[in-house]
Amino acid sequence: MTAPSPVEPHLAARCHYLKMTMAPRPATGLLNLCTHIVRDGSECVGPFLDDAETACGLWEPKPGDNSRPLPR
Ligand code: SF4
Repeated sequence: MTAPSPVEPHLAARCHYLKMTMAPRPATGLLNLCTHIVRDGSECVGPFLDDAETACGLWEPKPGDNSRPLPR
């Protein structure tokens, strides 16, 4: 019998639909864009904090993103 896997926290930074890109003007830094078909092109709702989950109902985990332990 295997132990159940822990539920992955819904961190915006680990969302399958997140695309980080440079803003058109360098002074504005990085943009966090959503590629989900419902929000395509809009900024991700975030937040981008290590211990705060997103309230976004469209969140999905990045496939194969298990490179480091998840914060809790
Ligand atoms: S808005 Fe939602 S679906 Fe889009 S990247 Fe952010 S968390 Fe993911």
